[in-house]
Amino acid sequence: MTASLLPDFAAKILAGDRRALARAITLVESARADHRAQAAALLEALAPAGRQALRIGLSGTPGVGKSTFIESFGTMLIGQGLKVAVLAVDPSSARSGGSILGDKTRMERLSREPNAFIRPSPSQAHLGGVARRTREAVSLCEAAGFDVVLIETVGVGQSETLVAEMTDLFILLMAPAGGDELQGVKRGIMEMADMILVNKADGDLKPAAMRTVGDYAGALRLLRKRGQDPEGFPKALPVSALEEQGLIKAWEEMRTLADWRRENGHFERRRAAQARHWFESEVREGLLARLHTDPEIRARMQALGAAVSAGEAAPATAAAEMLSTLGL
Ligand code: GDP
Repeated sequence: MTASLLPDFAAKILAGDRRALARAITLVESARADHRAQAAALLEALAPAGRQALRIGLSGTPGVGKSTFIESFGTMLIGQGLKVAVLAVDPSSARSGGSILGDKTRMERLSREPNAFIRPSPSQAHLGGVARRTREAVSLCEAAGFDVVLIETVGVGQSETLVAEMTDLFILLMAPAGGDELQGVKRGIMEMADMILVNKADGDLKPAAMRTVGDYAGALRLLRKRGQDPEGFPKALPVSALEEQGLIKAWEEMRTLADWRRENGHFERRRAAQARHWFESEVREGLLARLHTDPEIRARMQALGAAVSAGEAAPATAAAEMLSTLGL
């Protein structure tokens, strides 16, 4: 894309053209230097529109019902006249090239809705790259006029933290527990949760689901983020993605929480803190990338590394020399 085509491309995205949006996401996924520059120019061109969506992170282990939930929840939102975009952050695709979340048959009904846009996780070498692409994809979806952007991730490792750091609300989807113990959820993840939805609250599983809701509600009460949550939040609620039960209630509670945070300034503060965090992480990533991409810097790294291995230079001395080569 040449610079002269940029205004036209931006205008198409602002007009909600889904093909243009898909192309723009492909552009932000590229690591090529010229593509990076084009992506940055595009994002700059779209920023003045100032459109914002409610960004909702959704995490849960494989099999808990994420795609079924997104399908029902997304369809319900569209029924309320909203436009819904779904993005995925899938650490498995970064590691193995295979994907837990990328299956094309997932969310078939939602994918046919003209007011929905679904994009699987890119397979990139590292989670940092996926995170950047997802943040930029969120901005593109916002510019394209989506009201709600759902970012789905699998409940493993760092991907949850990444998603929590780019969303306004972070929701954990859980399964009914078999016994009376909470399912090995790490405290750190519970602390990130703005809401827990216990899925599969239907049929034979309903009593277990209701017990699980009670357990999580108790645990969440102890974790209430003073000042950031109104009275009674974070909540645990039962849903059935399959039978489409509890979804409207869950959405109402999400809106109540988001509205309260908007009125109390937390919403903007959280976004501002996130923007700052991502700026700092871009700088870090950029510095690290230069170690690998710039041939002169790479050669210097290798030479100094060899000297350290050979016992000719102390690691700290060699590192200081390397940093000064970088002008730091
Ligand atoms: P994901 O791996 O988290 O995306 O989970 P899926 O959406 O693929 O669902 C895993 C399995 O759980 C599928 O067999 C679904 O039909 C089933 N499932 C999902 N939601 C519900 C629900 O609300 N109730 C019941 N009973 N089963 C569900």
